[in-house]
Amino acid sequence: MSDRHMLEEAVRRWGVTSQLNQTQEEMGEAIAAINRFRRGRTADSELLAELGDVQLMLDQMRVVFGDEALDAARRASADKLREHLLNGGDAHE
Ligand SMILES: [Mg+2]
Repeated sequence: MSDRHMLEEAVRRWGVTSQLNQTQEEMGEAIAAINRFRRGRTADSELLAELGDVQLMLDQMRVVFGDEALDAARRASADKLREHLLNGGDAHE
C-alpha cells in the first residue's frame, strides 16, 4: 500500500469528522509533549513521535482538502514568515 493510498484509505474508512477529531487530538498530544520537552521531562524521541503523529494527520488533511488548497495555505503562511523575517520582526507577535 503506497503512502498516498494509506492516507486516502484512512479518510475513506473513518470519515472526515473522525480524522479532524484525530488531528485535534494529536495536536493536543504534541502541545503536551512540547511542554514536557521544554521542562526537560521528555526525550527528543517522544516529542518527535508526537510531531510525527501530527504530520501524518496533516498529510490526511491534504486528502480531505486537496493538495492545492494546502499548498496555497502553506505558501501564504510562508510569505508572512518571509516578510516578518525581512522586516526584522520579533520571535513572537
Ligand atoms: Mg500522538
